[in-house]
Amino acid sequence: MIYSLYGKTGKKVSAVGFGGMRFDESKSIQENADLIRYANSMGINYFDTAPGYCNDTSEDIYGEAFKDMPGQFYVSTKGMPTSLNTAEKAIAAVKKSIKRLGVKKIDFYHIWCIRKMDHYELAMKQGGQYEGLLQCQKEGLIDHIVLSSHQTGNEVKHILEEKKIEGILLGVNILNFPYRWEGVQTAADMGYGVVAMNPLGGGSIPSHENELDFLSEGDESPTEAALRFVISCPQITIALNGFTTKEHIDMACRIADEAKPFTDKELSNIKEKIGAAMNEACTGCGYCDMCPQGIPIPSFMQIYNEKHVFHKTDDEMKEIMRNAYEWGILVGKRGTAADCTACGLCENECTQHLPIIARLKEIASWDKE
Ligand code: SF4
Ligand code: SF4
Repeated sequence: MIYSLYGKTGKKVSAVGFGGMRFDESKSIQENADLIRYANSMGINYFDTAPGYCNDTSEDIYGEAFKDMPGQFYVSTKGMPTSLNTAEKAIAAVKKSIKRLGVKKIDFYHIWCIRKMDHYELAMKQGGQYEGLLQCQKEGLIDHIVLSSHQTGNEVKHILEEKKIEGILLGVNILNFPYRWEGVQTAADMGYGVVAMNPLGGGSIPSHENELDFLSEGDESPTEAALRFVISCPQITIALNGFTTKEHIDMACRIADEAKPFTDKELSNIKEKIGAAMNEACTGCGYCDMCPQGIPIPSFMQIYNEKHVFHKTDDEMKEIMRNAYEWGILVGKRGTAADCTACGLCENECTQHLPIIARLKEIASWDKE
């Protein structure tokens, strides 16, 4: 495992972090907690979670794991300024997370899901979340205040220049890096800790290994290449992985042990082959999953990736839709693409700023038969 300092915090963190957003919910809390302990035994010492992840079980799973985890570790969790819009609410949320996680303090607390400057300004307003977090820091409940962002490089730079936070969590991977690099490079140049989320493009990479074979050479699979990119990249301090099996952990740790970054030449070859489409792909993050019409938006948008990123034909998309309803990600889901009233709520929430309404219209045309 590679370890490096997280920005200027003095904390030495593992290059591979455990992301608590994708636990296997068919398993018990104890089984998932065992997986966390296994990861820690393999050298992973950064554990990321948030209230609400995995049907609001993620913090509890970590709490169970931490009861009996001999290795040293750091914990990161989050709170959104849109709901924690006063200092009092922010303090109460920190205390609640501490209780659920069963720890004395949060090492890295994220101002969560900043999609536009309005969100940042809301967090920083007088009497707002940031003020509450500073109070928590004074009381020893938080070590470091950090931020998760889904913004452009310019906006990320503006936030970092204010020097109110100590590190940043960004959605960057081998397919979207040409479009996300400005934020990563700026943060690294300024000496901030940089954490990368979503290293496998919301599952798009493992499910399209044939189409993406240009990412790797020799025996390496495209999934391994994608992990190697984020884990070995010198500008990225920690690559978060949403592990569900010990084998996934072993693979990431092996890649970290080998620590073989891509050369500039390899990256420029990959850049040439990646279409801009990947910057506008759905990551499956689920933040838009609040449609008043009950439309399963994340599932539809993941299906739309097949068209947008992998250029499937309309006939192929009709077949993909049929399969999704029969045995895939639409089984048992109510609300069709045609039910959309274009209210715009989901587009306001989308971390990737996607034109969900227009995409649903197109999906509705494949959905007819
Ligand atoms: S725009 Fe359409 S899909 Fe989005 S929340 Fe409104 S009704 Fe639902
Ligand atoms: S549409 Fe946007 S918010 Fe919804 S799951 Fe995809 S990337 Fe996330």
